[in-house]
Amino acid sequence: ANWVYGFGFNEAEEHEIDRDRLGGKGASLAEMARMGLPVPPGLTVVSDVCLYFYEHGKTFPDGLKDEVAEGLKKVEQATGKLFGRSKHPLLLSVRSGSRVSMPGMMDTVLNLGLNDETVQLLAEDTGDARFAWDSYRRFIQMYSDVALGLDQEFFEELLEERLSELGHAYETQLTAGQLEDIVASYKELLEEELGEAFPQDPYEQLWGAISAVFSSWTSARATTYRALHNIPFEWGTAVNIQAMVFGNLGNDSATGVAFTRNPSTGEKALYGEFLVNAQGEDVVAGIRTPQSVTEPGRIASGGEKPSLEKLMPDAFRELDTVSARLERHYGDMQDMEFTIERGRLYMLQTRSGKRAAGAAMKIAMDMADEGLITREEAIIRVDPATLDQMLHPTIKPGYKGTQIGSGLPASPGAVTGEIVFTAEEAISAHAEGRKVILVRTETSPEDIHGMTAAIGVLTTRGGMTSHAAVVARGMGVPCVTGAGNMRVDRFANILHGLNGTMLHPGDTVTIDGATGRVMKGAAPTQKPALSGDFQRLMEWADDVRRMKVRTNADTPGDARAAREFGAEGIGLCRTEHMFFEGGRIRMMRRMILAETEEGRRQALDQLLPMQRADFEELFAIMHGLPVTIRLLDPPLHEFLPKTAGEVEDVAEALGMETDALRHRLDALYEFNPMLGHRGCRLAISYPEIAEMQARAIFEAAIAAARATGEPVVPEIMVPLVSLRAELEYVKGRIDAVAHAVMEESGMEISYLVGTMVELPRAALRAHEIAETAAFFSLGTNDLTQTTFGLSRDDAPGFLGTYQKKGIIERDPFISLDFDGVGELMRLATERGRQTKPNLQVGICGEHGGDPVSIRFCEGLALDYVSCSPFRVPTARLAAAQATI
Ligand code: ADP
Ligand code: MG
Ligand code: MG
Repeated sequence: ANWVYGFGFNEAEEHEIDRDRLGGKGASLAEMARMGLPVPPGLTVVSDVCLYFYEHGKTFPDGLKDEVAEGLKKVEQATGKLFGRSKHPLLLSVRSGSRVSMPGMMDTVLNLGLNDETVQLLAEDTGDARFAWDSYRRFIQMYSDVALGLDQEFFEELLEERLSELGHAYETQLTAGQLEDIVASYKELLEEELGEAFPQDPYEQLWGAISAVFSSWTSARATTYRALHNIPFEWGTAVNIQAMVFGNLGNDSATGVAFTRNPSTGEKALYGEFLVNAQGEDVVAGIRTPQSVTEPGRIASGGEKPSLEKLMPDAFRELDTVSARLERHYGDMQDMEFTIERGRLYMLQTRSGKRAAGAAMKIAMDMADEGLITREEAIIRVDPATLDQMLHPTIKPGYKGTQIGSGLPASPGAVTGEIVFTAEEAISAHAEGRKVILVRTETSPEDIHGMTAAIGVLTTRGGMTSHAAVVARGMGVPCVTGAGNMRVDRFANILHGLNGTMLHPGDTVTIDGATGRVMKGAAPTQKPALSGDFQRLMEWADDVRRMKVRTNADTPGDARAAREFGAEGIGLCRTEHMFFEGGRIRMMRRMILAETEEGRRQALDQLLPMQRADFEELFAIMHGLPVTIRLLDPPLHEFLPKTAGEVEDVAEALGMETDALRHRLDALYEFNPMLGHRGCRLAISYPEIAEMQARAIFEAAIAAARATGEPVVPEIMVPLVSLRAELEYVKGRIDAVAHAVMEESGMEISYLVGTMVELPRAALRAHEIAETAAFFSLGTNDLTQTTFGLSRDDAPGFLGTYQKKGIIERDPFISLDFDGVGELMRLATERGRQTKPNLQVGICGEHGGDPVSIRFCEGLALDYVSCSPFRVPTARLAAAQATI
């Protein structure tokens, strides 16, 4: 095989452009050259050589030197210059470039080939001594850093010193003579530090640079980057050796970067920055403020400077044409690097440009409209995870402020408010019309009130699926969880943050639930507008997706929001949340604390109308769409007081002896509530609870049917089933209530009784359970907990360590564990459908809103995914992508 491929010669290049071997940069240079665009000629040493290099003690394969020498000859012919001593010295750049772009991770050397002799020749050839000496200076600095291991800082320091001695502010003010002196000092510095002279032989320089580029593949920063982005070592990097062109040959020369469209807004217009009389990295380095490519010539610091359009209209026009051609050729927005040498434009790189979420959507839709890409391609181009962010405000990009903590981005949205430490304070502050952020070590179901009253939630413990996170996402309340660098001191009433900050109740903070940032004071935020593009993209996605998208909604507010975002029903309504509202918690407690069935029934009778009203409202909002209601699931003690103070308050409110209450609490205490008396187990111990809920559902369904004329088919879901007999027992009770309600009302009601599949046994025995169940809903939160035997409330503490040590890649509570939990889902679906081919199967765990997990669900041919309201658009798009 060839080790080396040329580009930019006049002769036709006939080889396949193999991106994997040439690397992204090499492939783009070959492609642009083939399109006839102005690319300085050069060679690409393929990435296979990189592997060889590592497998053979950092040596090169036989024949490589010859291939490079041969290629260089063609570069010399094409440029009319010679590498080494010559009247027209050829200088080279040696550039890394792997299959995927790793910005700034690996090394590049410019101006290679300069030495004490060629610098003079270059000065004569170009008639610009200042330029020649400045190029040599840059070369020594870069080469020493990259190939000899002497940090640039040594040189920068020396340069700074000289500049201040000479009274210059910028290096552009240095004269040729001064630069010559600096070069001499650079060389002395190098000898002092490394004990060797700067290599004068251009070929030694060339092979030193090639080795250095290959070596940079395993540098610390590249290794970290590769690990983060799952880039295998085996891909290696290619090396591009290219004739230099000079943006620093005076005021008709320049260098810059440009995008074919605006990467932050998506606007269809060339967008870029450049510097006059500059080279390569000057634009990125930020020493001088770059100028705008297009008019108006606005610059970063706020002023105006002439644009490229004004300064060099011919080169600009050519860049504009090239830009349009490249975009059409690649069918995507491009990020280009260019240099103008004495008025002539050269293209040095092009690749797909990174863009902000909103821009990605606009660009995809525009390009589909322009016929550049198909609708399906447009659907694929938008990252579903970013839609969620687009629905919420964020902290203004670029705002620095004082960061006082950081945690997990649990529920997007940026909000500013006063901090409070208890749900009660949140409620009373809310009543006074104050905006508060509820700060807790972690939240429990009792905090729900407080969470509804708060505009944001911050916890110092807990993960992405902790109680606070799930509830906040469900409510669309911005939330940051697990801010481990902050600490709540409940005794002193202080929130400790980074750098010793201390905040008291009433102090203002801003949290950004999309990034996990916690800022002191009020940070400026920006609210997104749902563009027409957004709506249109959703429609296109709806046209191609197969799975339905439902929502997890517990309250009318959730349901309404979800409808707006396009939910096609409710996949999970968690009824327990309804019992924390207003005065209900008191009735609930009375029910739980009752010693007899009769006592319980009395309390339940009072809860019935409230529960019925909840369902009536939900049914009205969902207007005939399916609504899945889960019977009471959590262990009862979650509704009971915990601290001594709370126990006393509750005892008083209920007119009980404190001791008697304590006694009852002891009786309800469980070692392991997650695996304890909850779910259908409650309905079996206390069927009257399930009966009350069923009655509320049926009566509401009748009322809704009468009111709207649209029959609702409620889907009643029994949680935590592992035995068919459990489901049968509870279903028997529900059927009896249905029968009674139909008799009383004289109206027929259709309804379904189904179950969550959230325990491994249920998945394994799905064929049996499906005989009783009318539907399955895969409850992947609990299924993940029980499959791993891992409590999701305790897991965040050590799962982070697991990820760091490479034991797991992703948190299984966020992204499905396909191999284990997924296998059980597959079994449950297949076995259930063996019994009932048309068995409706959906997913209602947090994974229902995770794009990768949604793709997996499409593979199982699930009927729907259900997710929190703000994730509905994400799920619609992800479900569409899963079918393409
Ligand atoms: P990175 O991958 O970090 O962007 P590059 O290999 O693209 O590194 O090189 C960085 C910069 O060096 C380029 O943007 C360009 O300005 C300059 N450069 C690279 N090769 C040449 C060349 N042949 N002529 C002029 N400038 C070059
Ligand atoms: Mg580059
Ligand atoms: Mg569950």
